[in-house]
Amino acid sequence: MTTLKEPLADLGLHNVRVHLNPGVDELYSAALRLGEGVQAAGGPLAVRTNKTGRSPKDRFIVEDDLTRDTVWWGGFNTPIAPEVFDRLLAKMTAYAEGRELFVQQVFAGTDPHYRIGVRMVTEMAYHSLFIRNMFVRPAPQELQNFQADWTVLNIPSFKADPAVDGVRSDTFIIVNFTKKMIIVGGTQYAGENKKGIFGVLNFLLPERGVMPMHCSANMGESGDTALFFGLSGTGKTTLSADPSRKLIGDDEHGWTDQGIFNFEGGCYAKVINLNPEAEPAIYRTTQTYGTVLENVVLREDGTPDLDDGSLTENTRSAYPIDQIDNCQPGSVGGIPRNVVFLTADAYGVLPPISRLSPEQMMYQFISGFTAKIPGTEDGVTEPSPTFSTCFGAPFMPRHPGEYAKLLSEKVQASGARVWLVNTGWSGGMYGQGQRMSIRHTRAMINAALSGQLDEVSFEREPFFHLEIPTTVPGVPAEVLNPRDAWADKAAYDETARKLARMFRENFKRFENGVDPAVTASMPNPDA
Ligand code: ATP
Ligand code: MN
Repeated sequence: MTTLKEPLADLGLHNVRVHLNPGVDELYSAALRLGEGVQAAGGPLAVRTNKTGRSPKDRFIVEDDLTRDTVWWGGFNTPIAPEVFDRLLAKMTAYAEGRELFVQQVFAGTDPHYRIGVRMVTEMAYHSLFIRNMFVRPAPQELQNFQADWTVLNIPSFKADPAVDGVRSDTFIIVNFTKKMIIVGGTQYAGENKKGIFGVLNFLLPERGVMPMHCSANMGESGDTALFFGLSGTGKTTLSADPSRKLIGDDEHGWTDQGIFNFEGGCYAKVINLNPEAEPAIYRTTQTYGTVLENVVLREDGTPDLDDGSLTENTRSAYPIDQIDNCQPGSVGGIPRNVVFLTADAYGVLPPISRLSPEQMMYQFISGFTAKIPGTEDGVTEPSPTFSTCFGAPFMPRHPGEYAKLLSEKVQASGARVWLVNTGWSGGMYGQGQRMSIRHTRAMINAALSGQLDEVSFEREPFFHLEIPTTVPGVPAEVLNPRDAWADKAAYDETARKLARMFRENFKRFENGVDPAVTASMPNPDA
């Protein structure tokens, strides 16, 4: 273990007990001693958190000269005054004096040219383990003169007082680009650590010509790289961990002139109802020492019950990427040959796989569609649509048009094929149809990535003008065209029209800023 005299003195913290770059054993014993969790049978550290998901409404960006005209305010990017940040930081450091803190010096980004050094200061030992698993761990010699570009200070037991602190609730995540700091209080959900820094890279990288992306990535035998964009639950983690391809990364990547690189050093997989046969690689991580299991319920004998969603449906396993057998060392890849947009359409309308034109790509990227299954509220039986621009609105500080333009330039220069894949419902909407099988989705994706679909014929459906392959090896023909898969054709047409209208309604706010050819590729509810 490295030791530094007063490693947090610059934050005004002189009287703290600091664990500097603690390893797995040290973090386990600290987490157990502090009562943060228990060791599950098989080895993982199992914890429960006060919040079981991110708190996007409590996330703020300091508005100052650096961000005033560069951040796309509104939506998820909420401005806050620099004084509010300064006051809360002072309160937090006063609160932290005398306490035990964990510091991990890590990188965000596997490409040395674009990575940033981050000092993650956390109150919770389990956060420190999460960070060690999820970020890029420097080599021992890189730690000798480690330069932190950014600092994250995360103290969940420090709660803001909305009446005096100028925030919305007792929880806050405030990003300060000028001071290169993120402060977090009130929430124990570890995902804030990772997505906070993701937002930072998403702001910084476009200025350097790098496209930051909410996507997973993998690589085939011949070194061909594929990207999988998609909102939460659409299958980025599941489909990128394919036994026949090497995993480059799980959730966040950058696309440079040379290729792609992972921002992270680990994966954060949803594990609710995880099927050991369908997803053996991810399943194994839930039985491994060093893994963090978040809000997974343990049985009396200490074994994880992955089918128990009583704490949350958003149960997670966080593990270093090398826990996946065939991961690509270094987590970098060449220029992508295929780009896949994943959507889990609970309306059962979109084709299981279709090929996108450049304009359709822009349209789908800016729309960022998925549809959630109905919640448990009384009387709600319909799916609910989610449109989250760039497939990650909460993490994108700049105008969506900037990201869309950058992606479109990269795709054009590379000649990558672009696909839309519906991992959601087939043969009817949620309730009538069923979810697409992972096996079929994998077969369709593998056919696309291997070039097999370059050889088959396509038909165009009328509502979204999407080109659908007429045959895919290993997949029954009747699931390829969604209308064929529905018994009730009139019901399909009606549902497709409804979804087309929702797309158009959502896109109105972007129409002024995009090429007319993109707007012209809009879905047609009158077909
Ligand atoms: P997040 O951004 O929250 O990490 P994600 O895009 O990585 O989300 P996954 O964790 O891969 O999403 O979740 C997809 C879920 O859907 C998994 O639980 C998986 O088992 C399930 N699933 C069911 N059918 C399919 C399918 N055909 N393709 C992909 N995933 C499927
Ligand atoms: Mn994921």
